[in-house]
Amino acid sequence: MRIGIGSDLHRLEAGRRLVLGGVEVDDACGPVAHSDGDALLHAIIDAMLGAAGLGDIGDHFPDSDPQYRGADSRRLLRTAAGLLADRGLRVTQVDATVLLERPKLGPHKQSMREHIAADLDLPAGAVNVKAKTNEGLGPIGRGEAVAAEAVVLLAEA
Ligand code: MG
Repeated sequence: MRIGIGSDLHRLEAGRRLVLGGVEVDDACGPVAHSDGDALLHAIIDAMLGAAGLGDIGDHFPDSDPQYRGADSRRLLRTAAGLLADRGLRVTQVDATVLLERPKLGPHKQSMREHIAADLDLPAGAVNVKAKTNEGLGPIGRGEAVAAEAVVLLAEA
């Protein structure tokens, strides 16, 4: 059994799409990013790569590479799962937290879980997504950033 931790943060700006866990969330602000800026999926990908001893998301999907401009992070998540499979590893559990001041993500958490579970070929019960605010403190609390943290467990495929 192998464990990995991942985190991500994106600055938020008016007029951009906000996508988290593959769900488009209706809000006036979205992440400044080369890809779709899905901080939740990026944190999970980093945790997967970390657990497999495969470096980090920037090693595999560099933001200097034009093929990842506006990339759907669900595609990156599936690609990362493939990298693990190539090494005889599979994800068995994901736990993650999104830190965002607004809007409330409660109504979207179940869809996020289902997307992640589908992409990783897991039962929805093996994926947990939590959402919290930063109590108005710091850049996240001021609505200037979105962040995410994730822990992933791998087993031999
Ligand atoms: Mg990111």
